[in-house]
Amino acid sequence: MMRRFLMRRSYNKGQWSQARTHANKIIHLPKEKELARSVVIRSYFNEGLFAEVIHCNQKWGFEFEHLSEKAAYKLSLLNPTSQKIFDPRIKKLHASQPAPTHRDAEWDPVDLCDNFIQEKNRLWMRHPHGWTYWDMPEGYSLEKTHDALLILATEVLLRPWEPSTHLDSTVRRKTGERLALAYSGGTDSTAAVFTLPHDTILGYHRRNFESILDHRNAQRVMDHFEQNLGRVIVDIPSNHELIRTFYHKQIGFSTDMACASHLILLADYYGIGAIAFGMPLDNTWLMKGRKFRDFSESQYLKHWGQRFARAGLELVLPIAGLSEAGAMKICESEGILPYMNSCLRGNGMEGCGECWKCFHKNGPLGRPYDIEASEIQTFLNRRPLPTATHALWALKQMGHQSQAPDLQHHMEEDFSWWTCYYPPAKEILPERWKAGIIDKISKHLQDMTRPYIIESVNYFDE
Ligand SMILES: [Zn+2]
Repeated sequence: MMRRFLMRRSYNKGQWSQARTHANKIIHLPKEKELARSVVIRSYFNEGLFAEVIHCNQKWGFEFEHLSEKAAYKLSLLNPTSQKIFDPRIKKLHASQPAPTHRDAEWDPVDLCDNFIQEKNRLWMRHPHGWTYWDMPEGYSLEKTHDALLILATEVLLRPWEPSTHLDSTVRRKTGERLALAYSGGTDSTAAVFTLPHDTILGYHRRNFESILDHRNAQRVMDHFEQNLGRVIVDIPSNHELIRTFYHKQIGFSTDMACASHLILLADYYGIGAIAFGMPLDNTWLMKGRKFRDFSESQYLKHWGQRFARAGLELVLPIAGLSEAGAMKICESEGILPYMNSCLRGNGMEGCGECWKCFHKNGPLGRPYDIEASEIQTFLNRRPLPTATHALWALKQMGHQSQAPDLQHHMEEDFSWWTCYYPPAKEILPERWKAGIIDKISKHLQDMTRPYIIESVNYFDE
């Protein structure tokens, strides 16, 4: 019993080799065999020892076929000369996706607009490996959608892999009047809502295939925004997060801008002239939250600013000058917290308590989380530490300094600036929206004071 307890505890803490040592001591006992084998093979998998996974599966009568297939897939990723194979789960997802009636059309890298077709309210886009789609609102018309919007939507979805999307285009769209926000239901984009005009369209992208992501927490805060606060919600189902998987990447957004592809495509339908993103300081003036850079001069901002402008859209980053902690503060003082939860695996009322978001977004709000949970431990032990400044702040805030002994010297630093606003961020706000945004932020957050501590951030000597 003791061994079993120790084995489980090590496994849950992510101590893979220790978990195996305990498992191997009880694996010969008929009563313990099943669980011990499972711990051994899964710990090999989690540790990245994929050949061992395949070996154990063979040795134990192919009891773990699914895990072994996944290991073969991971091995193929590690060996650049081998033929890449798809994760079995992804293969199944690809096969289950719908296709339009005229499915035989080929990807056209020259005329990008040629890749779009509409069937009823469904807008299809052909990409080099198949089709993706959006279910648009009643009355949407592809014909009435400007080519510049189609070209931009293609680029935000395919830029990492398709050089044809890099070319400059002479097609220009006149700007529209309205502002729309790429809204996710999480802390950052919810804070962004409160910095923007009341009639801003909150455009939710609804991943519409089965995955670990649960929409119920997002649904709850959107219902509150719509029903109690009179905000405009536009909710668009799409499967475009699968595009990356054809390039052997995880399900997700092709680029940072892909989360707004629905709003780009709807810009003429709603008269949109600007699209906002809830991108906090952690990803703007801080690179991955751990190293300072001058974001206003970055190639990234210049590139996307120009591309959006061509499509008659201003790029608005209202919370680029405040951190995730600053965003939490805004949400708290706006009274939205009872309706909101950033956890993507929550049940519509609360978080799962075991994911990284539950640790660094929910923990500091006094919500429950398990510091020993495997995902949280994995992230805390990774170096460089993910979302470093915020994680250091959160560890200190919640009294978990001992969880990262090697970073103790950073934890002794003053982090009070982390909930303040970085004034140079005002400069990247388009004139049309600037005063309104700054006014709203200043109601919640103080400006950082000079000399700005953030400008010396570089925790891992990069
Ligand atoms: Zn969670």
